Amino acid sequence: MRADWPNNARTAISLTFDVDAESGWLGEDPAYKDRLSTLSEARYGITRGLPRILSTLAKHDIKATFYVPGYTAELHRDAIKRIAAEGHEIGHHGYLHLRSDGATEAQQREEIERGTAALVQTIGQTPIGYRSPSWELTPITLQLLREHGFTYDSSLMGDDRPYLLGNDLIELPVHWSLDDWPHLHWKPGRGDAFTAPEAFLDTWLKEFESAHQERRHLTYTMHPEVIGRGHRIALIDRLIDEIKQRADVWFATHADVAAFVTS
Ligand SMILES: [Zn+2]
Repeated sequence: MRADWPNNARTAISLTFDVDAESGWLGEDPAYKDRLSTLSEARYGITRGLPRILSTLAKHDIKATFYVPGYTAELHRDAIKRIAAEGHEIGHHGYLHLRSDGATEAQQREEIERGTAALVQTIGQTPIGYRSPSWELTPITLQLLREHGFTYDSSLMGDDRPYLLGNDLIELPVHWSLDDWPHLHWKPGRGDAFTAPEAFLDTWLKEFESAHQERRHLTYTMHPEVIGRGHRIALIDRLIDEIKQRADVWFATHADVAAFVTS
């Protein structure tokens, strides 16, 4: 696929944010509806994390891609409208963040169709990109994406460059090591441990160096309740500053990258 990035940029970088909020937990287990502490942390992502993220992106004049479950769009309509109003891309992230591998075909269809309807109602636009909840995706999911005319997916790890699924769907790959959740999120009873923010920034920058050498596209994945904490938002700021100092890069939304690599 095309990798001669615009304006002679060495690398294309996409900053992506999964705005799961409460849907991430309710989709995992309906019993979370009474777990107020967990739900309050999810909500914090919307009320405190998201504004910090948006102001950091505005400061650097960078447009990002936000993957939003339909339920989140319905519950936090104004916040999601604001993301779109500031020029960022909104992608599909299911309806109730149900993992595809645990859902029936009918449930998967409902997740896609209700998710799209909620986004259209909120921002007045049909998403062209999809990211599966928890990056679990089945052959049925791919069939549904084709049926509903999606341009790209961002859930798989089969390469570290954009690639094609079949001959019509673009994959913009991801990886757990570049996702803030496994490094910086902690859930009681799950055996997680926090990584020091500096160590995580180092991981991000090492992957940037590699992408820069190979002139490839690179996707970073974040969650507002994780990266939007007071002491962590600086990581995005520093990542962008470091990248800009080291090279000419093209910061681009996933929609922009998907359009470019097939142009
Ligand atoms: Zn998610």
